[in-house]
Amino acid sequence: MQADTVIEARWLIPVVPKNTVLEHMSVVISGGRIADILPTAQARLRYQSDDTVTLPESVVMPGLVNLHSHAAMNIIRGLGADLSLMDWLNTKIWPAEGKLMSADYVREGSLLAGREMAMSGVTCTSDQYFFPESAAEGLREAGLRCAVSGLVIGFPSAWGSGDEDYLAKSEALIRNHENDPFVHATIAPHAPYTVSDESLRRCADISERFGVPVHIHVNETAGEVEGSLKTYGLRPIERLTRLGLVNDRLIAVHSVHADASDIDKMAQAGSSMCHCPSSNLKLASGFAPLAAFMKAGVNVGIGTDGAASNDKLDMLGETRLAAMLAKAVAGDSTAAKVFDMLEAATLGGARALHWDQEIGSVETGKQADLIAVDLSGVECQPVQDPAAQLLYSAGRENVTHVWVAGQLIAEKILSVRYSEENCGFSLNSVAKKWQNML
Ligand SMILES: [Zn+2]
Repeated sequence: MQADTVIEARWLIPVVPKNTVLEHMSVVISGGRIADILPTAQARLRYQSDDTVTLPESVVMPGLVNLHSHAAMNIIRGLGADLSLMDWLNTKIWPAEGKLMSADYVREGSLLAGREMAMSGVTCTSDQYFFPESAAEGLREAGLRCAVSGLVIGFPSAWGSGDEDYLAKSEALIRNHENDPFVHATIAPHAPYTVSDESLRRCADISERFGVPVHIHVNETAGEVEGSLKTYGLRPIERLTRLGLVNDRLIAVHSVHADASDIDKMAQAGSSMCHCPSSNLKLASGFAPLAAFMKAGVNVGIGTDGAASNDKLDMLGETRLAAMLAKAVAGDSTAAKVFDMLEAATLGGARALHWDQEIGSVETGKQADLIAVDLSGVECQPVQDPAAQLLYSAGRENVTHVWVAGQLIAEKILSVRYSEENCGFSLNSVAKKWQNML
């Protein structure tokens, strides 16, 4: 049988079924979708393709889903290190955005971020920013799938004059992408402290009418919770619950200061939490209780946040940090298990976006959004546990191939840093010799 592409993987981590590493498997792609998954020996008998990619020392897995980005902020990366959050916003970020904000800035910034993400193994990002149509253009130009946001924020910007304008533009954005296989839309009230009750209620209504997720920063800082208690007499999640926003479409970004009652409400409602550990650490926001969210059964995704507060859009690195931080915060090294974290970085994000019927795992019939991570380098050898080493030893530098809908959007040739000629013997054979004695 003829196939568009056959990927022959040493290891396949499909994410569904969970806790699974398959060896010597092939993923067959036709028409942008996964047509078959079968042992390579059988695939060679059954399928022909002009595009066979043989990856003898790589893990193939679903593309990473970045659940929270501000892609255009790649252009203002590097501004204001070591400032307090309010100083950073007031003296660096907001003035820079004020000066640059336009459709072109967002499109070109998103293109840069899209390329950085593509090279890092991200196949889909959920973006929140002004000029979302321009963000979608830049991200699509970079080859990514994306969910862009109808942003609602309580002050005027170059994109909108105020709440009415933001809500109208957001609704138009959502209608525009209703049947778009590559670009979805969310409604994105920026945060509980920047959006009024009335506008939050209207966001809830838009989310309900169109069935789109609500992409919002919540419980990011201790100050936000204090402010909410002072102004409304309610914690942010309780306020959002009363306004009709806490349901299975909620994506609560950060959730650093979520307490047990917040976690319980989100678990009951089937809401999702998006964890952005680098941003939380760099801005000293605190430590999100990731293990508690996972234990309560809340769907978890991972996000990089924008390049101004991270400053790298490295989902593998972010997931590694999330796992280690969760263990330390919970005081429990058995928390945030490898497969839970790999799921959070892929299917968890897809689920939060209500896109999990199409992306987030390697399953027959799904979109062929896939990546390959090469474990042949000395930094990943010997391979004793491909899943654990994918999370803890590999990094974005080991990502070699990235496909979206079966199209190769990024390919990297890894340089051989320690060739046999240089050191007179194979470093991998040294690693394997000792591995064999175990
Ligand atoms: Zn953010």
